[in-house]
Amino acid sequence: MTTAHDFEGMAAVVTGGASGIGAAIARQLLARGARVAVLDRDPAGAPQGTLAVKADVTDDMALRTAIDDVAQEYGALHTVVSNAGIGAIGTVADNPDDEWHRVLDINVLGMVRTARHALPHLRRAAAERPGCVSITQTCSIAATAGLPQRALYSASKGAVLSLTLAMAADHVREGIRVNCVNPGTADTPWIGRLLDRADDPAAERAALEARQPTGRLVAAEEVASAVVYLASPAAAAVTGTALAVDGGMQGLRLRSA
Ligand code: NAD
Repeated sequence: MTTAHDFEGMAAVVTGGASGIGAAIARQLLARGARVAVLDRDPAGAPQGTLAVKADVTDDMALRTAIDDVAQEYGALHTVVSNAGIGAIGTVADNPDDEWHRVLDINVLGMVRTARHALPHLRRAAAERPGCVSITQTCSIAATAGLPQRALYSASKGAVLSLTLAMAADHVREGIRVNCVNPGTADTPWIGRLLDRADDPAAERAALEARQPTGRLVAAEEVASAVVYLASPAAAAVTGTALAVDGGMQGLRLRSA
């Protein structure tokens, strides 16, 4: 059973926690009793009550220092949410190598680095609190959906999905659980920025909503609820799982009436 304060005594790091899905995750972890550090390249929007740390997931040394400092400040680290990520549009023909390197550096290597630097702390915590120690990564339905105009982004999230499964296998006997969430189109500042590029953002939003089985976008708080479940003691037997929070986008095959 989950309880309102099931993260009491636990310390969490959320990368990309100053906006959108990450900020919602940080707020929910706080509300459930965790101490929460937000690691973000632009931490101004970190929720009140969190420890806001400026850290770019592409800067290996700075990220290591930030994670070590947070673990020292809190005395332990139990929950890592690797969420920082950026979008990329286009076919394979549209993006040159340097853009592939830039996006993969953030979306894939950022999660690799976060895990690498968190693992020594997580191993110590797992010995003390079995079932409570986890890494949860924000993936996407793009990992498996075959979306048009998303070659680079999809490849980056496909790597996150594979990484989640491999890490889950590597660390299960250490008591560290590794899972990911696959959001559909979530209503965050990122999607807002994309819509703002359209000639008629309101019409574009309405069309996007109409394409969803539910007729609406997923709320950031709904993705956060799934992440918090995966990180919670209630999910002590859950590892190597990808949980879709996509309003049925992946699983349903709806025919119009
Ligand atoms: P967002 O742009 O609202 O927030 C992303 C946050 O990550 C920002 O605070 C940003 O400063 C931070 N960030 C970006 N690059 C960083 C870096 N190099 N180092 C540290 N921090 C960095 O976006 P969002 O929609 O909340 O997306 C969060 C995650 O969810 C991403 O991994 C994204 O791929 C994933 N996702 C989003 C959607 C969606 O529809 N919004 C769908 C599927 C997956």
